[in-house]
Amino acid sequence: MELVTVRTFNNYFSANIMLSKLRDGGIRCYLKDEFTVTVDPILANAVGGIKLVVNKDDESEVLEILNKFDEDYHRQSVCPKCGSHEIDLVPKQNVANMVTAFLSWLFSSYAVSAENVYKCSNCGYESDTLPEALNNEKQPFEPENLN
Ligand SMILES: [Zn+2]
Repeated sequence: MELVTVRTFNNYFSANIMLSKLRDGGIRCYLKDEFTVTVDPILANAVGGIKLVVNKDDESEVLEILNKFDEDYHRQSVCPKCGSHEIDLVPKQNVANMVTAFLSWLFSSYAVSAENVYKCSNCGYESDTLPEALNNEKQPFEPENLN
C-alpha cells in the first residue's frame, strides 16, 4: 500500500476538519506528524507541517474533494471588514485553549471542545462565527464587538 501526501497544514484544527470531512466521505486517510506539530507548533516548520496522507489509489478522488471543499468554503465566507475570502479557522491564542486543544487531541474528540476563531488573513479581522456571504439563507453577518 502506497501512501501519498495530498496536503499539509500548519495547524491541528484545519487538518482535523479536513480529515473528518474525508472520513465522512468514506475515504481512508491519516495525519502524519500531527503529534509533533500539536505539541510544539514551532516544530511545524521543521517537519513541514501536518501531512494529510491517503492511499495512492484514492489520490485523484481526494484532490477533487479537497478542491470542492475549498471552493465552497471560500465562496461562503467573506470578511465583513475588507471583503476578502481568505478566512481561516484558527485556535484562539491563550494558554487555557492550548491545554484544551491538547486534551481534545489526546482523547480523540477532535477540536469540538476547543475555542476557535475565524480570522481574516488579509486584514486580521476575527469572528467567532464564519462570516457568511449575503446570498446565504442565514442572516447577514453583523459584527458585535466593534469597540
Ligand atoms: Zn479582512
